[in-house]
Amino acid sequence: MSEYWNPQMETMKKAELDEIKLKRIKAIVSYAYRNSQFYKELYDEMGVNPEDVKTYDDFRNKITLFRKDQIRDKRVETGDPFGTMLTIPPDQIERIHPSTGTTGAPTFTALTAEEVHVASEPCTRLAWMWKIRPGMRLLSAIHFVGFWGWWSTFLGVLTMNKLGLNTELIAYNAYLHLFGFPTARMSLGKFKGDWALLPPDTALACINEFAKMGKDPKDAIPGLKYVTSAGEAISPKHRKYLMEKFGLLDWFDAWGCSDPFTIAGECHVHDGLHAYSDYWTLELIDTETEELLGPGERGEIVVTNLWMRALPFIRFGTEDFGEQIDETCDCGRTHPRVKVYDRASWVVDVAGKKVSPFSLRLIMERHPETEEASFNIIKDAKKMNILKIKASYKEGITKDPEELKNRIAGDIKKELGVEAEIEWIPYEQLHKTLHKITRMVDLTKEG
Ligand SMILES: [Zn+2]
Repeated sequence: MSEYWNPQMETMKKAELDEIKLKRIKAIVSYAYRNSQFYKELYDEMGVNPEDVKTYDDFRNKITLFRKDQIRDKRVETGDPFGTMLTIPPDQIERIHPSTGTTGAPTFTALTAEEVHVASEPCTRLAWMWKIRPGMRLLSAIHFVGFWGWWSTFLGVLTMNKLGLNTELIAYNAYLHLFGFPTARMSLGKFKGDWALLPPDTALACINEFAKMGKDPKDAIPGLKYVTSAGEAISPKHRKYLMEKFGLLDWFDAWGCSDPFTIAGECHVHDGLHAYSDYWTLELIDTETEELLGPGERGEIVVTNLWMRALPFIRFGTEDFGEQIDETCDCGRTHPRVKVYDRASWVVDVAGKKVSPFSLRLIMERHPETEEASFNIIKDAKKMNILKIKASYKEGITKDPEELKNRIAGDIKKELGVEAEIEWIPYEQLHKTLHKITRMVDLTKEG
C-alpha cells in the first residue's frame, strides 16, 4: 500500500503546485469580488482591483486581509448571519457549521453539496497520513454535533467511503458519553477502536477518569493504535507520555481553523503539519505590524481557502501564532508545513522579542522539577523588559528552588534571548480557566 493517498498530488514538484495555487488564487479573488457584497465593498474601499493580481506577490501585497470582527460588524450592520459574504442563495447551502465561539459570537461556514465532495479529497489524504486504513474502527472523543459538526464534514461519510470504512464504525459523541455516563466509559472498551480523535486535555482527563475506575488506559480502550489530536499544540514530551499511557504506535497533531474550513495535519515525521497547497494557501504576518514574514519567521497565520465558493475566505487572519516550513518533508510530501503554537494574543513582547507560551513550555518540561509545565506568563504592560512568570515545581524532588529558578532563567536567556523573573507559587494559586492553566494572564486589560 502506498504511503500516500494521492501520490501524484502529494509529491508534485513545487513549481507545478505553485502554478495550480496561483491559478486558483486568481479565480477565487475574481469570483468573490464579482459575487460577494462583502468582498466587493472591502476591495472597493481599499482601492483593490482583483484584476491586478498577476503573481503570488501581487496577491500578498495588494489583496486586503480581514478578520473575524469584520464579519461580526457586518452582521450587526445588516442583520445577515453571513455578514454579506455569501455568494449563493441560502437555499443552495448543504451544511452550515458554526465556529467554536472561543473569541466571541460564533461565525458560520457554509458549504454546498459539491463543496462537501471537494473537501473529502484533502481530508482523505490526511486520514491516510494518520494511518487510517480499510477495516479499521474509529473512535471520536470530539462529539460530531454542535460546533464540532465541522469534523463531521471533515471525517464524514464521503471520506469514510473513499477509505472503504463503514461509517457506522465511528463511535459518535464519545466525549459526552465519557463524562456523562459511567456505563458508556465501560462500553468504549468493548468497541476496540484502532484510531481515535482525542484532544490532549481530554486524553489527560480520560487517564484520570480511568484511574478512578481502577483501570489502566491500555485496558480501558484496548487495541488503540493511533490518535490524532487537535485544539492545542502538543510537545514531544507530552506526546511521548500520552503514547506510553495508551500504548500507541503513533500520535498525530492536527490544526484546524473553522471559518475558512482549513485543516492541516502531521505525518509520521512530526516536523510540522501538512497544509495541502492545492486547497489552502497559508501566509505568516507580524502580529503587530502585519508585515509579511518569510519562512521560519513566527507570526500570525493568514489563510486563503482555494475551493470554497459559497462563502469565500480570502486572506483571513486566523489569530493563531506559528511558522511555516517550505522545504519538502522527509516523508516526501512537497506541500508546505505549518507549526502552530498558541493564540496570537497570548504572545508577549519582551524587550522587542516575541515570546509564546509554547516556547516557554518546552523549556519548563525539560527540567524534572517543572516537567508538568505549570506556569502563567504575566503580561503587565504592552511591551515588557523582563518575562514575568508565576510557576509551581514538584515539591518532593526540588532541593533548591533558588537554584532551579536560576537554571530555568538561564535557559530562557539562552534560547529565547530575554531576561526572566520567576516567582514560585503553589499549583492551586495558578490562574486557571475551568481546569486549564491560563498560559498568559493579561493584566493590561483589567481596570
Ligand atoms: Zn511529512
